[in-house]
Amino acid sequence: MIIIGSGPAGYTSAVYAARAGLAPVVIAGSVTAGGALMTTTEVENFPGFVDGVQGPELMESMRAQAERFGAQIVYDDAIRLQLDGDVKTIETGAGATYLARAVVLTMGSAYRKLGLPEEERLSGHGVSWCATCDGFFFREQEIVVVGGGDSAMEEALFLTRFASKVTVVHRRDEFRASRIMAQRVLDDPKIEVAWNSEVAAILGDEQVTGLTLRDTITGAERTLDSTGVFVAIGHDPRSELVTGQVDTDADGYVRVAHPSTRTNLAGVFAAGDLVDHTYRQAITAAGTGCAAAQDAQHYLSSLA
Ligand code: FAD
Repeated sequence: MIIIGSGPAGYTSAVYAARAGLAPVVIAGSVTAGGALMTTTEVENFPGFVDGVQGPELMESMRAQAERFGAQIVYDDAIRLQLDGDVKTIETGAGATYLARAVVLTMGSAYRKLGLPEEERLSGHGVSWCATCDGFFFREQEIVVVGGGDSAMEEALFLTRFASKVTVVHRRDEFRASRIMAQRVLDDPKIEVAWNSEVAAILGDEQVTGLTLRDTITGAERTLDSTGVFVAIGHDPRSELVTGQVDTDADGYVRVAHPSTRTNLAGVFAAGDLVDHTYRQAITAAGTGCAAAQDAQHYLSSLA
């Protein structure tokens, strides 16, 4: 059994598969092993950690737990897959070829970024892509949401539970979001909208202190004080590797036969954010990773 990806979905799948005696190999990625939580600081909503846990620490524990039961972690990228037939082939960037009867896909998804240098540096220090994860840290603060689609509206509305003021920064003079969501935002007394505006810079040394906004029509720049920036301009599943082999939806998310993790190909399972555009949490990714390992185990038993 081979697991591709090493976020909460991949490592949880590896723990379950290893404990079932399947000796899984995890193709973990060459530079991004550990997944999305490696880029964050405090995680306060993963059950079992009363005082929270640092994202990288949580992922190191998951890796060690998987290894303890015999999972083999390979720090390499899967670059070519052949997934049909009984025996699947996985080729890696370092030139190795692995054969497996069952493959679990857990490559996650990437949040779209603004592309500003400060965005990476201040990630987890005021820059966030997830209101559910981080909204709680911004109680009684003035913060910004960047975007104009439904998810930006949802993030802004959710953040009004914590923040004293939310400014939605949008490049155009009307939202792309559905009318009902847009209207909710416009009606909310805690939300202001900076129309025709884009983020030219994120300010702050250790922590976000503000933004430079540029008017998309006049080019004029101004500073907006803010302790948080939620980037809500979309996300892309990392499914390029399997496109054309497994079924994906219009946005590129891998389709599974819910509530199972089975894809359209026998012996190929998928879990985590690669499948899920709704919940997108570490615990839900871990949960479906667990399900994928069990689905793979049943599939392998059925071959015996
Ligand atoms: P990921 O964690 O994205 O892992 C995917 C893995 O696949 C990566 O290791 C990647 O390198 C690997 N991969 C991709 N392609 C290949 C390939 N070709 N070959 C080999 N490996 C490959 N959630 C919470 O519940 N609480 C939080 O507080 C929280 N905070 C967050 C903060 C930030 C900054 C971010 C970005 C996300 C946060 N999330 C949080 C969301 C959470 O991180 C994700 O929902 C979760 O990590 C998804 O897990 P996953 O295993 O599906 O994918």
